[in-house]
Amino acid sequence: MQNSTLQSQLIPTLKTNFGYDSFRGQQQDIIENVLNKKDTLVIMPTGGGKSICFQLPAILLEGLTLVISPLIALMKDQVDGLNANGISAAFFNSSQHPEEQQEIINKVINKDLKLLYVAPESLGGLENLLNEQYISCVAIDEAHCISSWGHDFRPSYQQLGFLKRQLSNTPIIALTATADKATRQDIVAQLQIPDADQFISSFDRKNIELEVRPADGRANQIVRFIKQRPNEAGIVYCLSRKNTEQIAKKLNQNGINTDAYHAGLSFEDRSRIQEDFIFDKTQVVCATVAFGMGIDKSNVRWVIHHNMPKNIEGYYQEIGRGGRDGLNAHALLFHSYADVIQLRKFASGASNEEVQIAKLDRMKQFSEATTCRRKILLSYFGELLSENCGNCDVCKNPPKFFDGTIIAQKALSTITRVKQQEATGTIIDILRGAKNANVLEKGYDALKTFGIGNDISWKDWQQYVIQLINQGVCEIAFHKNNALQLTDFSNKVLFKGLKVHLTHPVEAKEQEKVIAKPKAKRTATNSLFERLRKLRYRISLEENLPAYLIFNDATLKEMERVRPMSESEFLTISGVGQRKLEVYGDEFIAEILDFMGSKIKKQKKTDTHILTYELYKKGFSIEEISIQRQLKAPTIYSHIAKLYLDGKDINIFDFVSKSDVEAVHMAKIELNNSKTLKDYFEYFNEQMDYFKIRLALSVIEKENL
Ligand code: ADP
Ligand code: ZN
Repeated sequence: MQNSTLQSQLIPTLKTNFGYDSFRGQQQDIIENVLNKKDTLVIMPTGGGKSICFQLPAILLEGLTLVISPLIALMKDQVDGLNANGISAAFFNSSQHPEEQQEIINKVINKDLKLLYVAPESLGGLENLLNEQYISCVAIDEAHCISSWGHDFRPSYQQLGFLKRQLSNTPIIALTATADKATRQDIVAQLQIPDADQFISSFDRKNIELEVRPADGRANQIVRFIKQRPNEAGIVYCLSRKNTEQIAKKLNQNGINTDAYHAGLSFEDRSRIQEDFIFDKTQVVCATVAFGMGIDKSNVRWVIHHNMPKNIEGYYQEIGRGGRDGLNAHALLFHSYADVIQLRKFASGASNEEVQIAKLDRMKQFSEATTCRRKILLSYFGELLSENCGNCDVCKNPPKFFDGTIIAQKALSTITRVKQQEATGTIIDILRGAKNANVLEKGYDALKTFGIGNDISWKDWQQYVIQLINQGVCEIAFHKNNALQLTDFSNKVLFKGLKVHLTHPVEAKEQEKVIAKPKAKRTATNSLFERLRKLRYRISLEENLPAYLIFNDATLKEMERVRPMSESEFLTISGVGQRKLEVYGDEFIAEILDFMGSKIKKQKKTDTHILTYELYKKGFSIEEISIQRQLKAPTIYSHIAKLYLDGKDINIFDFVSKSDVEAVHMAKIELNNSKTLKDYFEYFNEQMDYFKIRLALSVIEKENL
């Protein structure tokens, strides 16, 4: 960077204003590029941390950074977040009163504003300000909106090319989470920044755990899943409006605070639902894909897909709404063939039917994978992962294969006998010997294979048939009422000795045991985290500010772990900047102290030395510990002696010198190994403190002197 003083200010500026100690990924390179006044294109996944890439330069540059953003709701949250960090920011749009607008313009002229958010439609109102006397940087957020290739095309974004013509020496930074090449080229071409440096981050969101389950009984599975995560916010995506309402009803009946959200609701209802979710007033939203754009809420802990999404782009964008604070999040997808069939119907007849079906097939492959899911997902975006991720259900429970040739032969033989005219359900009915109307009417009970598979449950048969389809041993004819068909492989399996390997279907309950259990523990209702969360919620209502903008979950977690009890300790927490320390420090510290106090009272006597140890590890002196714990110093020393004997990490020689130990050692021999401290005290003519004697004896005992 030309200006090395600016560079030296980057980390301090990050800490003071945003509370973070280090940059993530490419943030620093991007920021330096902007500060060097170079045009910049940033491709980063949702939750990657794009905002700081223009917000931090805005603080360091003189004058105003203009931020173009598509949605008013998005702007408001970002501006609230900036103000909460003590950074002067505002938005400008048509909903504002002319006087309010003039006030903002005056602030820009007086250089009182660092960031101004504006929708492209409202740029006209700022005409007089659009020159380099006032503006030092232009950021274009959600830049994919410029491209008709992208999924959120906004015609008003297409006029933005004039900015570079008018502000030719001002750096433009364009940011998006959409990766594909066509969109990228479109962005730089239309913004007239062909030489922009491009920063393309990995799309891997390691903190999102991926899981796919068979869809049977999914409503009950969803209830169980959420009950294991009390107070954790999440989204259930559904295919239809009706689904959203059904699931929401079921969750509410089970005591889970839920709203349904879809395009059929009024604007007011949708705004309220969105706001209640952002404010942590509702725990869950069951929604169609209409829900999400404009939701920056960083503490969404899980995303469930009740139905399969149409394509991997959509799926990835939706699960990306989880875990934006960097803490673990869980993405659970329910896979059903009925959904695949439904989605195929939707796609058929569309102008780009072929593309849609190809994309659906990739989604299906992902859902049916028997290898690391993240590898499949990232390879879709052109990124290769060399190692298995370890954070998907396949990595956690690698499938165990067994010889399923006989099972396959039974199914294939049945498909042959019904002349490839029947769908999965009927095939399974025949295999299991079901005497229902359909089977009897068609005389299938006379088939040789009738009932030969009744040792396998209906559900398991369904899983096996899906596996056979995935392996190409048979296939579904979507255009023939989904009848199962034979393939080249079928004959090899039936007649040429080709072996088939299947995996045992995993029970959903078992999966929950394996994957979800540790989480339930984390959310004990009386934990410090819960108390801090409640405090945050109360402040959020008082200040009318979304809870995650006060502190995100990651910051509360760190407070729980570190337990800062003074202002200087509080400031070391990631996410606590200068302003938040000033505004919220006292209340949070008081809550932590109170928690420590009540915990001390509740603690059994035998554990008391552990509390001392916790404080000792934080560097408190014996005197400070005795004040905080309201215990006399000798008691604390006796804890130290015990901790040391227990093998804890105690620097014992900070409290007793080697020569004292030697002296006590001599005394011990002369006193015939006496165990009474008073003997020693008198031996030293009351010149050595009791605590020193005690500590010295513990060294002698420990070292076997
Ligand atoms: P994006 O716009 O790319 O989806 P955001 O800018 O909203 O992502 O950032 C996502 C979350 O990560 C926010 O809660 C933000 O405060 C946090 N974050 C960003 N940069 C850092 C950093 N360097 N250290 C810690 N947290 C960060
Ligand atoms: Zn994996």
